Amino acid sequence: MAITETGRPGPVRDEALTALAADLHGPLLRPHDDGYDPARRVWNGNVDRRPAAIARCLDAADVQRAVVFARDEGLLLSVRGGGHSAPGYGTNDGGLVIDLSLLKAVTVDADARTAQVGGGVLWRELDEATQRVGLATTGGTVSNTGVAGLTLGGGLGWLMGKHGLAVDNLLSAEVVTADGELHTVDAEREPDLFWALRGGGGNFGVVPSLRYRLHPVTEVLGGMVVHPLERAAEVLRFYRDFCPTLPDEAEAYCALLTDPQAGVPVIALLLGYNGPLDEGERVLRPAREFGPPLADLVAPMPYVARQSMLDEPNAVHGLHRYWRSAFTEQLDDGLIDAVTAAAAGSTSPLSAVIFFYVHGAATRVAPEDTAFAARRAQWDVDVIAQWTEAGESERHTDWLRSSWAAAEPHMDGSAYVNHLATDDAPEKVRASFGTNLDRLRLLKARHDPTNLFRLNPNIAPLTPQPRRSAD
Ligand SMILES: Cc1cc2nc3c(=O)[nH]c(=O)nc-3n(C[C@H](O)[C@H](O)[C@H](O)COP(=O)(O)OP(=O)(O)OC[C@H]3O[C@@H](n4cnc5c(N)ncnc54)[C@H](O)[C@@H]3O)c2cc1C
Repeated sequence: MAITETGRPGPVRDEALTALAADLHGPLLRPHDDGYDPARRVWNGNVDRRPAAIARCLDAADVQRAVVFARDEGLLLSVRGGGHSAPGYGTNDGGLVIDLSLLKAVTVDADARTAQVGGGVLWRELDEATQRVGLATTGGTVSNTGVAGLTLGGGLGWLMGKHGLAVDNLLSAEVVTADGELHTVDAEREPDLFWALRGGGGNFGVVPSLRYRLHPVTEVLGGMVVHPLERAAEVLRFYRDFCPTLPDEAEAYCALLTDPQAGVPVIALLLGYNGPLDEGERVLRPAREFGPPLADLVAPMPYVARQSMLDEPNAVHGLHRYWRSAFTEQLDDGLIDAVTAAAAGSTSPLSAVIFFYVHGAATRVAPEDTAFAARRAQWDVDVIAQWTEAGESERHTDWLRSSWAAAEPHMDGSAYVNHLATDDAPEKVRASFGTNLDRLRLLKARHDPTNLFRLNPNIAPLTPQPRRSAD
């Protein structure tokens, strides 16, 4: 490793990278290579970083070589699945990116109702494969989000009320830890490491493949019920009372956004039901009759159609983004007023405020059973600024910061790990791992004592202090 006069790691040596490139089965992209520029970019166009190299791994052995290389060279390391980290953890300046986007294998066992999934698979790809045999597992609501990254933080989605979070359906995983070892972990094999992967948010290693439990899912109810933004406070008060009435099969999210067709600000209830359609019609009726709405677009649809309902503009790579988020168990009037004012003052038609309601099976798992501790009925609230022009960033980030300053005091001091921002306070990051933080810190010290995997919602390693002898 090149060490500079300041004692910090210097730029990685060319000959070291050339040797790594020769060792890998997949390509190693460096700044002079064709394809480097698109490969360094991620979903958030506001993240403009230039890693020294991007290792496009073809198999677990490539991942092992790249991890050992980053460790030995003292390089900053990013791990990228689908590239959807809002803070842009999937890229960095001057370090190495382990890019899993070529690990696309999906093997569905329809009889066993399981799927083996490569670490670079996107939800769209997994849903298409499992839906061919009428199965699905809880997954992300925007179709080009990475399966692995979303799962490792917990995994909220349309099926969570009935089937739990993505982590609750994870049966086993391969993981390459910071020492370069490849482990296959599940409830019997290295259960501590398996526990930590289910909510530890990328802190414990690189996951080249995962195995999921699947469930029968065919036609579902889905769609939006749209009201004018002027009625947002009224709709949100209805929504906070409606959510706790939902059975496990139903989901209700809510978004304050600009109608892409009409170009006017609206509030939309995003409804779903995964079960007998007539029962779904009955359960969702109060939310469709309230108002009356401007439009009721709820209808039976294939599951994959519901899984891409929020893609526009959220699936578009390269737009500029800034995102803040928190959990809350209550939608108090102050929060309703704050988000309504935020939406009314929005500086971009692509920006939005979104509420995900977490309930049902996702909340019936004990907090200590998986690393994902936030097992309570609650809303994940996201204020998302999105815009097209880099030169306008200040205006939109100012909108987000002032909106967030008004909303945040009305919410808990924790967030969904996968939605934490880099400018969230360290105490909020710690609070987001909840009662599992200490166990996670001890496991981090065991599996990644030097914090090689630190570009993530980070868990600081905690080395147990030796007990003093009595004398
Ligand atoms: C538009 C959008 C919609 C979203 N919707 C949802 C949603 O419905 N439900 C939900 O729960 N979350 C949602 N999220 C949050 C999402 O779960 C996180 O952003 C997640 O980190 C994305 O994973 P990725 O692989 O696409 O991201 P990347 O940027 O590729 O990775 C982010 C981090 O995940 C870890 N990681 C990714 N892949 C691997 C791997 N194979 N092995 C080890 N670590 C890995 C790494 O720490 C990495 O830094 C959404 C995000 C966006 C931007």
